[in-house]
Amino acid sequence: MKPGIVQRIFDEHFPAIDAGRSLDARSRWAAQNIRTCRTPWQGYHVDICPNGDYRIHLNNSCRHRACPLCGATETELWLERQSTKELRCAHHQIVFTSPDSLRPLWRWNRKRFTNLYFQAAWHTLRELLADAGHLGALPGVIAVFQSWSDELGEHLHLHFIITSGGLSPSGKWVSADLEYFLPVPVLAAKFRGKFLAYLREGFKTHTATGKPKPEDQILVPPPDMSVRQCLNLFNKLGRVKWHMQIEPAYAQARGVMKYAGRYIRRGPLSERRILAYDGRRVTIGYAHPEKHSRPTFNLAAQDFVLRLLTHAPEKGTHCARVYGLYHSACREKLNQARSQLGQPPYEPEAEPPDTHELLHRMFPDFTGDLCPHCHTRLVTVQVVRRAHSPPRRKAA
Ligand SMILES: [Zn+2]
Ligand SMILES: [Zn+2]
Repeated sequence: MKPGIVQRIFDEHFPAIDAGRSLDARSRWAAQNIRTCRTPWQGYHVDICPNGDYRIHLNNSCRHRACPLCGATETELWLERQSTKELRCAHHQIVFTSPDSLRPLWRWNRKRFTNLYFQAAWHTLRELLADAGHLGALPGVIAVFQSWSDELGEHLHLHFIITSGGLSPSGKWVSADLEYFLPVPVLAAKFRGKFLAYLREGFKTHTATGKPKPEDQILVPPPDMSVRQCLNLFNKLGRVKWHMQIEPAYAQARGVMKYAGRYIRRGPLSERRILAYDGRRVTIGYAHPEKHSRPTFNLAAQDFVLRLLTHAPEKGTHCARVYGLYHSACREKLNQARSQLGQPPYEPEAEPPDTHELLHRMFPDFTGDLCPHCHTRLVTVQVVRRAHSPPRRKAA
C-alpha cells in the first residue's frame, strides 16, 4: 500500500479509541506524532539546490520512534554510526527472551524494566565470557530491545550481537569456538538469576547504604498486583526454565553489524508489510513468512492501532546499546583488538555525517533529496520546528 497508510488508519480510528478509553501520555504522544508526521503541524524546512535552480518547502517528519516512516530510519542511522567500529571477526547472536508473566511489570515500568533487562543480559554475558573456562576475554556487543512478536503482540526480548572472540586481560585477541560459543543452559540459568535479582532490587526504596532511591529508579507493581505478589512471581519464575537461543555465528568478517542490524533494527512494522486495508481490517504480511503457515495475518483496525501504540517506547528509553569493546569508554581496548585483526585504529568521524549523507551511504540509489533539474544534492537552508508541546490529557 502507499506510504502514509498507517497515518490514514490512525486518523480514521484513533479518535474513537481515544474517546473510549483512558490512554496514557506515552500512547497519545506517539499517536499525535504518527498522525502529524510530514504535515504542517511538525513545522517545515527549506531545501535549495546549490546551483540555484530549485527550492522546495517540505513539512518536517516527526522522528518519533513509533512512527513507521521515521522510527526505523533513526535506529538504522545509529547502527550505521556504530558500524564504523566493527571488528572483522565472526559474530554470534543471542536472543534473551523473558517470560510472558513479566509483561504487566514492563507495561508499568517501561524504561526502568528495559534498563534492568539490558543490564542483566550484559552482566551475564560479560561474566561468562570473562571466565577462562569459556572465553576468558571481553567481547564487543551491540544490543537491541524489541517488545513485539511477529503479529505485533507483546513479546519482550533482546537481540545481542557479539564478537565471536574478545580481548584477554593481557591484551591478546582470543577467538571463540564458532560451533560451541557458550553452553545455553548455563547462560539461561545465570541470566534468569541475575534478572530476577535486579527486579527484586528494583522494588527496594533504599540503596544498600540506606539512602532513599530517586523515585524514577523504583519499580511500581502493576495495578492489580502488590509488591509481595510480584516477589512471589519472581520466586516462581526462578524455578522454571527460561527460553534462550544462540544463533549460528555470522561467519562473514565484514558488514555483519549492518547486516544483522538491518534484520533487527526494523521497528514493529514497516509500511511495506501492509498489504490491504478496507477501512475496518488491516492485512499484514509476516516479516519472516517462512516461519508461518500463512503468508499474512489480519487485525481489526482498532486493534492494529492499539498494538502499534503498545510498542511506542517511553521517552528517554535507549532501545539499542553497545557494550564491551564497542563501548566508547573502551576505545583503547577496541584499537588493541583491531590492530591484532589487521584493522586500522578506530577514529570517530570529527564531523559526524548528517542525515542526508548517511541516507546516501545506506541506500546508494536514494534520490529523494536530489535536484530534479541538475541532480545535485539539495542543501537544507532553514528549519522551522513545531512550537507544540506534548498534548495534555483532555478533560473528560
Ligand atoms: Zn514520523
Ligand atoms: Zn539543481
